[in-house]
Amino acid sequence: MRRPFVAGNWKMNGSVAGNKALLDGIKAGLAAVTMTEVAVCPPFVYLRDVAQQLQGTAVVLGAQNLSEQSAGAYTGEISAAMRLDLACRYVIVGHSERRAIYGESDALVAKKFAAARKAGLIPILCVGELLEEREAGTTEQVIARQLDAVLTLEGIAAFAQAVVAYEPVWAIGTGKTASPDQAQAVHAFIRNKLAAQDATISDKLRILYGGSVKASNAVELFGMADIDGGLIGGAALQAEEFLAICRAGA
Ligand code: PEP
Repeated sequence: MRRPFVAGNWKMNGSVAGNKALLDGIKAGLAAVTMTEVAVCPPFVYLRDVAQQLQGTAVVLGAQNLSEQSAGAYTGEISAAMRLDLACRYVIVGHSERRAIYGESDALVAKKFAAARKAGLIPILCVGELLEEREAGTTEQVIARQLDAVLTLEGIAAFAQAVVAYEPVWAIGTGKTASPDQAQAVHAFIRNKLAAQDATISDKLRILYGGSVKASNAVELFGMADIDGGLIGGAALQAEEFLAICRAGA
């Protein structure tokens, strides 16, 4: 039995006062979230502050990105160990915005995944196809390529301490959600691909869906056999909406 997991990706949003209001709202409704593991991933400058506000709650902290390097002359970068210092448990790697806007290659994403694991963080590896790739019928090839980069560097054993998030790029922040059947088909493809290397690890792996998840579509999506929760962007910035999505994970 895989424990449902919902992670909120705040992206480049927030302020000290705004975060407090959001977290107060989330904390006020947490008692009703019994089964689901919940994480929030604020911008890195707020990690310490958010960690303090989450003390005594079951909500865990994640970061949105990390350097593939461990330390040294990498101006502007933040290492995995620094994130651990700030009480992070998870880190998102390979978000489509990092891949598309900042040119992160499959190979770089794999290195970031490795750096996270080496430091003791749990990577949330994002994979997903562009609209033109879906229309060209290459969705599975794209996902396989993104997974293979990590498998080649780290091996299947690494997935015992990782989460995968399937995020069709055409569904992120667009209001267009993959239908439950479309999402389930890709989740099953991911699980089967990994099962070919290790069925036990694949069976235990949590595969999240991300892409315009809302309270109104979460129950149906999370009800699919291979969808174990969600990576939530826009809806993670509204306490009531986020809590309703967390409740849908149970
Ligand atoms: C995301 O940022 O990972 C995401 C899924 O965003 P949204 O929920 O806004 O589509």
